[in-house]
Formats: sequence, structure tokens, C-alpha cells
Amino acid sequence: MSSTLLDVRNLQVYFPIRRGLMRKTTGYVHAVEDVSFTVGQREVFALVGESGCGKSTTGTAILRLIEPTGGEVFFRGEKLSQLSEEEMRLKRRDMQLIFQNPYASLNPRMNVWQLLSEPLKTHFHLSQAETREKVEEMLRLIGMTPDQLFRYPHQFSGGQKQRISIARALITHPSFVVADEPVSALDVSIQAQILNLIMELQQEMELSLVFISHDLNVVRHISNAVGVMYLGSLMEKGSTQEVYSHPVHPYTQALLSAVPSHDPLHKSDHVILQGDVPNPAHPPEGCPFHTRCPRCSGICCTEKPELKPVGEDHYVACHLPS
Ligand code: SF4
Repeated sequence: MSSTLLDVRNLQVYFPIRRGLMRKTTGYVHAVEDVSFTVGQREVFALVGESGCGKSTTGTAILRLIEPTGGEVFFRGEKLSQLSEEEMRLKRRDMQLIFQNPYASLNPRMNVWQLLSEPLKTHFHLSQAETREKVEEMLRLIGMTPDQLFRYPHQFSGGQKQRISIARALITHPSFVVADEPVSALDVSIQAQILNLIMELQQEMELSLVFISHDLNVVRHISNAVGVMYLGSLMEKGSTQEVYSHPVHPYTQALLSAVPSHDPLHKSDHVILQGDVPNPAHPPEGCPFHTRCPRCSGICCTEKPELKPVGEDHYVACHLPS
């Protein structure tokens, strides 16, 4: 086990609901509720769950792009909540974000040279020649060439735009990156290329990643550990191998049952969840999943289960694990 780089403890993010002319706070959306996990050096922790479950909010709160309501995030043992805005801005050289949508995240008025040299100018004092050398090295790493340096985002395909977006996040050589659904906005035909690129760069640059995805198939081969989120809370977490081979939580089992099998003889036992995800402004009492759980029993409606160990490096929040 590698040493811990990121330690997220009891992270909580609530968004106020404001109503009326006076914008009075009338309630809170419970976006992230008591989420804890660690990421070791050169490890990939995948956060998975349906859209709206709080995984992207968790990623942005880790980087303090939104301020957490409660809990703590430690990076290299340092409490991030204690840093000033300026100290946090400098820290982001080492902690970066790859956005979901390269179409929206790249400034259309900046060419590749401007997009990639800007973070270097913000964080380092380099000569023009040194900047050029680093930008060209990064272009090579993402499989592009120097003759594309002065083109603008609209002159590239979706896959190339995401390559540029990844290069912009990695140009400062961070040790930690949140990759927020980095392939979900892309055509299926190029998703595998971008995933392979991220895996190669993770190895080559010795990155630690929090990789956010709604698709369990996507994270299976890229992650060392996985956390399954539902309605802002972690339902199950553990090593990827353990969670995929012995899923214990009914929600994880349902998600995994929906992953298509490559074996034509495999008999599908797809669990179709009934009902909708509850409103996070009014989360249900007891287990967050009880309104849709096929295994729900009396205690589930009144007591929220805590994450408890069910095996080595395997935790589940369920009163009736199986
Ligand atoms: Fe289902 Fe109860 Fe477990 Fe929640 S605690 S997942 S409702 S069995």
C-alpha cells in the first residue's frame, strides 16, 4: 500500500435554498453527506454513481472550488481549510481538475499555445524558450504535434479538445488530479482512446487521481479503489477487485447488474431499480436508499447505516449486507 496523499474526512456540502424577494434561506440541498476516503500516491480512486449523486460536488469541494460545509480534506498531511485563498491558488499547481466538457472548458478565443502556456505563466517564472519546451513536451505526451500549436479549439475534434483540456490540467505537473467524467461528453468511438491516454499519463507522470464516472464499466480497469455514492453518501467502498467481485450493497449490485457482459453465454440478471432518486433537499429518514431497495426492512426506514468493514479493505453502509 502506498502512502496517503489525499485524506477526505467526513466531507459535507450543503447548498442553501433561497426563496422570496429577501432571498431567505428556506432549506438546504444535502449534496454531500459525511464522505470519507483516502487516495494513496500513484493510486486511482473512482467515485461512481448515478448523475446527481454528489460525486462531482465531492470532487470540486476537495479542490475547494466550492467551500465544504463540514469535514476536512488533508493533502500531504496539510489541512486545506486552513489555507488562505492565495495559498490555495498556489496549491492548485499540484492539485488540478480535468473537466467533463472540453467544449465548454476551453476558451474559444485562446489558441493551444495560449491555453497551455497560461498555467505555466501563473505558477512558474520561465523564459519564453523554457515555456515553449514544456508546452511542446506536453503536446507530445498527449499525441499532438507542434504544428497544431496556433490553432483554436473550434479547429479540433471533440477527442482532440479533451486531449488539450487534459494537457492544460497536467502542464504544471501536478501530483493529484480530479478527473470529472472526462469521457462522458465524447463519442463512444473515442472514449477508449482518451481513457487509454489518461491511464498512460497517470503511469508516466505518477499521478494520483480521483476519477469520477457514472459508468462502472469505465472505472473498472483504471482504478485501484472505488467508492459508490448515492444521494450524497458513500454506500460501499473498497479495492476495485473486491467491490467488483463481491459487491455487498444492493445499490452496487444493481449498478453492476446493468453492466453489459462480453460473454454471449452470460445470463443477464439485470436488477431494475424501482422509483426515482429522492430529492436531496428532503432526503429520506434512515437509509438513503430505502425508498428503492428491494431488501428494505423495518430498521432501514429509521436508522441510517454507517460504513462498516465487511472484509479486508471493503466497507458497506447497509443494515442487511449480503
Ligand atoms: Fe437496503 Fe436496508 Fe441496506 Fe439500505 S440498509 S441498502 S434499505 S437493506
